[in-house]
Amino acid sequence: MRKTISWSIGIYLIYVLFMIWYLFYFADTSIPKEFKGTSADPATFLTPRELMLSEQYSQMKNLLFFLAIPYDWLIYIAILALGLSRKFQGWAKETTKWSALQTAVYLFWLSLLVTVFTLPLHFISYLLSKEYGINTQTVSHWLKDEIIHFWVNYVLMMMIVSVLYWLIRKFEKRWWFYAWLLSIPFIIFLTFIQPVVIDPLYNDFYPLRDKELEAKILALAEQANIPAEHVFEVNMSEKTNALNAYVTGIGPNSRIVLWDTTLERLQEDEILFIMAHEMGHYVMKHIYWGVAGYVLLTLIGLYVTNKLMKWMIKRWGVCLHIKDIKELNSLPLFFLLISLLSFSVSPLVNAVSRYEEHAADRYAIELTKNTEAAISSFQELTRAGLSQVNPPYLVKIFRYGHPTILERIVFLNMYEQHRK
Ligand SMILES: [Zn+2]
Repeated sequence: MRKTISWSIGIYLIYVLFMIWYLFYFADTSIPKEFKGTSADPATFLTPRELMLSEQYSQMKNLLFFLAIPYDWLIYIAILALGLSRKFQGWAKETTKWSALQTAVYLFWLSLLVTVFTLPLHFISYLLSKEYGINTQTVSHWLKDEIIHFWVNYVLMMMIVSVLYWLIRKFEKRWWFYAWLLSIPFIIFLTFIQPVVIDPLYNDFYPLRDKELEAKILALAEQANIPAEHVFEVNMSEKTNALNAYVTGIGPNSRIVLWDTTLERLQEDEILFIMAHEMGHYVMKHIYWGVAGYVLLTLIGLYVTNKLMKWMIKRWGVCLHIKDIKELNSLPLFFLLISLLSFSVSPLVNAVSRYEEHAADRYAIELTKNTEAAISSFQELTRAGLSQVNPPYLVKIFRYGHPTILERIVFLNMYEQHRK
């Protein structure tokens, strides 16, 4: 038990050192020679101070990203190896005979412990983005969001875990297949309902106040055959300086949303380009491909998790304090494996996403034909988020669902040259 934990911590520390070396000493994030001095070169559109801040901020953010995920794994391993998971299960059984309530009690202790250990990292990340002027939330607002997040997550987990363990107990061999069948409506629900039901829990949505701009956006939507009647604005400026916009919903429920930060920082032409990009996703049905992709990945993921869980319990059950997959205290192992698998497929998921984002860029420039506005919107995006124009390779494959700003501006410049 001690050995498992010290080995895990040792491997984690070596990984941390490697990532520090990679991100701060090894990776070269300068602009390739052939693009120096072009509109893709941040030196041409950022002040030296912004340039320095964006490099520093991105490096720290990248490091935190790479530290956080394996840190979760470490927590799950420790919870299992120290016998805490079994202890929580014991408390749950003492509290009540009802299995649904047992799940509630067990999950409460597990979520609480995980939150206590991950909160400092979230807080550092919050402080960092606040320090660099990206996050504009007060500490109490930030904490309020963390608390809402805890409870939303808790309720969601309650539903998922209750059903999951009921399936495992009832169909020990095939539970993963039935769990997959049930996950399909769930994925669809999250994709289409979340923007309408969950997101408003965190932020205020209201119709776009600038009616002239709304008319232009709706005219663009009509050109793209999107049956939207209103454009919504969401109040994000209390929380962040980053920019965003999206189109969501199905058929007549289509909804175009703009963060108020986007309205404040971008010119009209730039906003129209961003909207055209979002409409591109909608028209090319990327959301449906996304749902199909997640449904497939969930099937493979659950199958592999089932195999690995049973194998690990057989081999290391004593050390992890798990006798049987049917017992609730095997849950941290389930989370650990799901997280490990998601992290390993994230480069693939990101690559598909980058491909779609590029397609949306192409769609947008063909619709608006305004290369200048498109380029300046990407430049402003970089400035607003202090993002790296040319991130290190590992950062790109693990973190970037969008092409890098360098790639996006270079594409626009090439498009413009071809048009001439
Ligand atoms: Zn996009």
